[in-house]
Amino acid sequence: MPDAVDLIRAKRDGDRLSPADIGWLLDAYTAGAVADEQMSALLMAIYFRGLDPEELRAWTRAMISSGERLDLSGLNAPTVDKHSTGGVGDKVSLILGPLVASCGAAVPQLSGRGLGFTGGTLDKLESIPGWRASLSNADIVRVLADVGCVICAAGAGLAPADRRLYALRDVTGTVESIPLIASSIMSKKIAEGTGSLVLDVKVGTGAFMRDLASARQLAETMVELGNAHGVRTCALLTRMDTPLGRAVGNAVEVTESVATLLGEGPADLVEVTLALAAEMLALAGIDADPAAALVNGSAFERYRAMVIAQGGDPAAELPSAEHTEFVRAEASGWLRVLNAGAVGVAAWRLGAGRARKEDPVSAAAGIICRAKPGDQVTAGEPVLELRSDDSARFDHALEALAGAIEIAPEPPRAVPLIIDRIS
Ligand code: URA
Repeated sequence: MPDAVDLIRAKRDGDRLSPADIGWLLDAYTAGAVADEQMSALLMAIYFRGLDPEELRAWTRAMISSGERLDLSGLNAPTVDKHSTGGVGDKVSLILGPLVASCGAAVPQLSGRGLGFTGGTLDKLESIPGWRASLSNADIVRVLADVGCVICAAGAGLAPADRRLYALRDVTGTVESIPLIASSIMSKKIAEGTGSLVLDVKVGTGAFMRDLASARQLAETMVELGNAHGVRTCALLTRMDTPLGRAVGNAVEVTESVATLLGEGPADLVEVTLALAAEMLALAGIDADPAAALVNGSAFERYRAMVIAQGGDPAAELPSAEHTEFVRAEASGWLRVLNAGAVGVAAWRLGAGRARKEDPVSAAAGIICRAKPGDQVTAGEPVLELRSDDSARFDHALEALAGAIEIAPEPPRAVPLIIDRIS
């Protein structure tokens, strides 16, 4: 039998771990026979030494086998999902599931809650009165069969080893490791049972990956892992230097998603959504026009059906904040920079996000970008509208926005939103 200390030493010294060693380690950790302090030391060794492709495949396989794998093979439509590494104002999942389902695919979107400033899809949908994130496996399959899409919490049975490892990484400074991030994300997505997967790897000031080289490496690693485990996978690298769309928060993002499903979405959000939809439909082998589904009401009908199937009232009024504050243009000209990271932190400080996973979030808090880069502004005009139920939060949120806005005398050069495609 392998010994945990020997394996930690081996990784520390730059040796490879065999698939059998990795399988043993993760099983023993899940069973409590390898202690948290030993796993912490191993994670730090992996942080510095990495995992080669064979080690990474074995690590991911062991994480998947720590729990159950959903069986979606009984559905009579191809299954395809999307995962985003997270961005500010990134409400694409709310639109994409119904949109791609209306084109004939089944979209199982099992998500986590938001932690940090990028917000979580479940938190956004929970601003709809009655909507439930928690579904049994049988309910997930039923909603998928009836409606074609579901957005719900990934149950505790999916890749439970990741849950423990992620909590450990969070307190040991080992989150920022490409093999650990890739295996964490992909083990959950593979266990979810989807046949195909499109990854939206965001790059920029409002993303987990700030630079293109690391984002590309993460995307390539995840694409390889998905394909190695029999899930057809491709990735788009998309720019996240400014919020996607105009709304950042929970209820405000639901409202913007509904407008987009009715064909009235902001151009950048529509562009990213349609690009991802096209990739999903291609992987699923479906020849359909997602742009038409956004304007002919069919995507919106799926959204309504999905919300109702999960206990929500799609016609209910969403919570709105009691207090508003504005950040105004200091000069006239063209908005050149609206820093996504700063807007995300400000929305988080207004109450839209949580600092610890047990914290509640405010449905009503958030920010509306009254202007976006490329828009012409006049001195004194509002650029950002901050909303909160607690006016004491404004000062701290405004501090995050210092230096977040730049106005130039000339219009900025347009930059493409879709940077690259990895397959
Ligand atoms: N999201 C995950 O699910 N895992 C990571 O390691 C990082 C982001």
